[in-house]
Amino acid sequence: MSFLRHLSEQSAFDTLEQAMPWLEHIDGVGLDSSELGHPPEKFARVFARCRELGLRVTAHAGEEGPPDYVWQALDLLKVQRIDHGNRSLEDAALIERLRNEQIPLTVCPLSNLKLCVVTKMSQHPILKFLDAGLLVTINSDDPAYFGGYVMDNFHALLESVPITTDQIVQLMRNSFTGSWLSDTEKQACLQRLDAALLTF
Ligand SMILES: [Zn+2]
Repeated sequence: MSFLRHLSEQSAFDTLEQAMPWLEHIDGVGLDSSELGHPPEKFARVFARCRELGLRVTAHAGEEGPPDYVWQALDLLKVQRIDHGNRSLEDAALIERLRNEQIPLTVCPLSNLKLCVVTKMSQHPILKFLDAGLLVTINSDDPAYFGGYVMDNFHALLESVPITTDQIVQLMRNSFTGSWLSDTEKQACLQRLDAALLTF
């Protein structure tokens, strides 16, 4: 479930209140919609409440917003994952933190292009993320808006950046490692991936 950051803190509390009867069906909460002017700190209290309720937490940050929004998401919202995070690359200390804590980043190439986060797919920073040792993953964002499911996002990268097979495999592995599956489920998925790779 996601809170819309261009709305008020109260509206996020209202959404949470409406969701209370169905919390057992909700894995976690996120924060999306337009970033600029709506920093993570605006939602620190509602995220604290969500964590108390045992919900996992994630937030869009550093997509159009500055690296400071990523710091805020980590330190004030205490997110377990950053959605997008592209602009983290502007801040070396932040990259170090993301690498040390292996915070998953959910990167969405086709959406990055449509929203002008990158001007050309060939300039997508995916290789910089991988080179920095970050737990970066490839995702579809919202396929209805951005024109493609996850495989289309992989293809878009393959066609435009000099990515190697090993790096593609690393991205696939990261998808499981960075997911909200249990450790047992992650291991099972990674084993299936390894088995599938043997057939190539
Ligand atoms: Zn998004």
